[in-house]
Parts: sequence; C-alpha cells; structure tokens
Amino acid sequence: MTATEAKAIEEVLESLKDAEAVFIVGCGDCATLSQTGGEFEVKEMASKLEEAGKRVTGSVIPESTCHILDTGRLLRQNKEALGQADAVLVLSCGSGVQAVAENVDRPVKPGCNSLFLSVVQRLGQLAERCICCGDCIVDHYLGICPRARCPKGQTSGPCGGYDQGKCEVNKDQDCVWTLIYQRAEKLGVQPDLETVATGEEDYQKQAHPRARVFEPRRT
Ligand code: SF4
Ligand code: SF4
Repeated sequence: MTATEAKAIEEVLESLKDAEAVFIVGCGDCATLSQTGGEFEVKEMASKLEEAGKRVTGSVIPESTCHILDTGRLLRQNKEALGQADAVLVLSCGSGVQAVAENVDRPVKPGCNSLFLSVVQRLGQLAERCICCGDCIVDHYLGICPRARCPKGQTSGPCGGYDQGKCEVNKDQDCVWTLIYQRAEKLGVQPDLETVATGEEDYQKQAHPRARVFEPRRT
C-alpha cells in the first residue's frame, strides 16, 4: 500500500486561499489505512475548513481513489455538490489526486504527502519495503530488499558505516545486512550474492513515467 501523511492544515488552507467552497475526496483504501483519508479524516477536514470560513459542498470516499473510472463514476453521482465547489481537496496519495484531476474541471489540491510503498506491520504502523525498482531481486537476499531497506541501497554488503549491527544513517535501525544474515542463519543458507550483478541496475526500468498496459482477464 502507499503510505501517506496529512499535510499541515496551514498548508492546506494556503492552497485553498482562493476557494470559498470546497468538495472533499477521501480514499477508502491506502489513505484509510494510513489514517489520512478515511471517514474520520474527511469529517475532521470538513470541520477544520468550516472553522476557517469555507463552505464544504460535499464529500465522497471512493473505494480506491486511484481507480480513475470508479472515482469518475462516483464524482459524476455527486456532480451538483461538485459543481458548487471552487476547488476539490483530495485526501489520498498523489495517484489518487491525479485520478480526481482527470475527472473534474476544477482546481484539485492535495491534502496529503505520499511517502512510500509499505507493508502494514499492525494498525498505525507502516514500513517501507519496496521502491518499485522494476527488477525484483529479493530472492538473492532471502526475501529482504536492500534497495528499499538500506538508505544507500547497498546491494553488495554493508557499507563502512555499519556499526555493531546498526545502520550508520539511523542508529535505531538494524542494518539491512544484519537482517539478511540473521535470516540466512535461521534458514541455514547463504545469501546468493554471487549471481547478483551489483552496481549494474537497469535504470531504464526506473525511468518515469512508467506504465503497464495489459489485457484484463475476464472471469
Ligand atoms: S528488488 Fe526491492 S525495490 Fe526492487 S521490486 Fe523487489 S522489493 Fe521492490
Ligand atoms: S549501515 Fe547497512 S543499512 Fe545502513 S547505510 Fe550502511 S549498508 Fe545500508
């Protein structure tokens, strides 16, 4: 899922300074889990905007706001409230914001910052695990990704700053190589580093914007 954080209300109000009436869009998927765009946060944002003198014309929470067609359908069902708004505030990741922008001819403002692709460790605890490099090699590292979990992306062993198992960039965090070797010991195997072409990443696979087009399976 995409981890997001809420923007400070001051920043949101600054971006909405020319809008008297605002329509809010949340997200029932990642932003709900991140507690940035679910039912509670949409209501809370509506109250804050009203306290600041804005008129909230309405709100919706699409199942997954990044789904352009579904979000568009929901927005069309709310076209009257949307039509009264001077701007649309979106509480979701940047993909959701842009999916809304593709569906409305109003200024669209982001209410969140997109942070990273994460696992959910437990409710309220998200951790980055993948930077979408386009060439997954975690099998060589026993299922632990050094590209995402080392601040330097070291794929060939710990850097010189490795200190008693901890990361030099963040001393509270285990070095990813500690995790890889602990797992190797547990599994009774060695990381398969020989076969990884270190330092030869195909950056073409990471060039933006990326897209994937495929024929959906119909069941
Ligand atoms: S190697 Fe790491 S960053 Fe790349 S796809 Fe796999 S998990 Fe994601
Ligand atoms: S100490 Fe380990 S995790 Fe931290 S930057 Fe160096 S190699 Fe990466």
